[in-house]
Amino acid sequence: MSPTMKAVVCHGPMDYKLEDVEIPTPTKGEALVRVEAVGICASDLKCYHGASKFWGDANRPAYAETEVIPGHEFVGEIAQIDEEASKRWGVVVGDRVVAEQIVPCEECRYCKRGEYWMCAPHGIFGFKRKTPGAMASYMIFSTHSRVHKISKSVKPAHAAYAEPLSCALHAVERAKIKNTDVVVVAGCGPIGLGMIAGAAVKKPAILIALDLDDRKLAVAKECGATLTINIGRENAIEIVRELTEGYGADIYLEGTGHPSAVAQGLQILRKLGTFVLYSVFKEDVTVDWSIISDDKELDLLGAHLGPHCWPAAIAMIESGKLPLDKICTHQLPLADFQKGLDMVSAGNESIKVSLIP
Ligand SMILES: [Zn+2]
Ligand SMILES: [Zn+2]
Repeated sequence: MSPTMKAVVCHGPMDYKLEDVEIPTPTKGEALVRVEAVGICASDLKCYHGASKFWGDANRPAYAETEVIPGHEFVGEIAQIDEEASKRWGVVVGDRVVAEQIVPCEECRYCKRGEYWMCAPHGIFGFKRKTPGAMASYMIFSTHSRVHKISKSVKPAHAAYAEPLSCALHAVERAKIKNTDVVVVAGCGPIGLGMIAGAAVKKPAILIALDLDDRKLAVAKECGATLTINIGRENAIEIVRELTEGYGADIYLEGTGHPSAVAQGLQILRKLGTFVLYSVFKEDVTVDWSIISDDKELDLLGAHLGPHCWPAAIAMIESGKLPLDKICTHQLPLADFQKGLDMVSAGNESIKVSLIP
């Protein structure tokens, strides 16, 4: 019998189990990676709760598959690799590596145009049977994986934060921030804090963080926010208006995943402002779209994954400048995955929860 490992297996919404499964065997051009840490993402939680984005509804087919090991934010050590893969990725056994969450097909129109993060079959680790994720002792980096080395000097949970950080940096790139801009970031979870850190590098005139949680707002300050507003106590729209001679913010980055934050952004922006939406929502968002056209002529930009932002995210993590101990708040053993999911769901004591297989 082949050796086994512990792994979390998704059998469908609300049906995840810790099981003994076979340690996968890499084939030609692949690598076997010993997982050191795997973050629990808000999207993992939405998949767990059965959101239609993952399991489909009348308007869309299902994206997620069952009998899959979840986990797309990970770091690990190369345990086994052949010459072909070693050459392609420039890594050897013992190297510490991360891989981008998407494994591009390299054949569709998007991949051929270099827009790999929009790959049509969209094989993201942890959602498809072809690309099992990292909530296990070992995982496979398949041939088309996009692999990056990361220093062993950072803690495993911090290294795994490269995934959400790269996503946040991509959203920031979409915004094209200028140093005269008043920038508002909604939400100080792992994505929002990454957006703040990324936006701070662009040196906008004012960088404002919004959240309901003073503790998260304090971390936002450490990430580079120049002003924090607790929207539970203060009126963010009024404060921003006062700061901008009544005009409103130039750029709004949405990283909360709450429908109310979309309406808030449309209100807070000035005319001709820019709205960047990164979030994944559990339900449909209803707002007055005429604000986007008739009232303000806004630029409305989506953002997905972290294309071309991984080297910058890794450098930022390795630099030691981010308050990573305060962002990566909880590390739990793999067996406590349910507790981890519940913690992310409650959201009141944790920011980034990671599992350590
Ligand atoms: Zn994620
Ligand atoms: Zn493709």
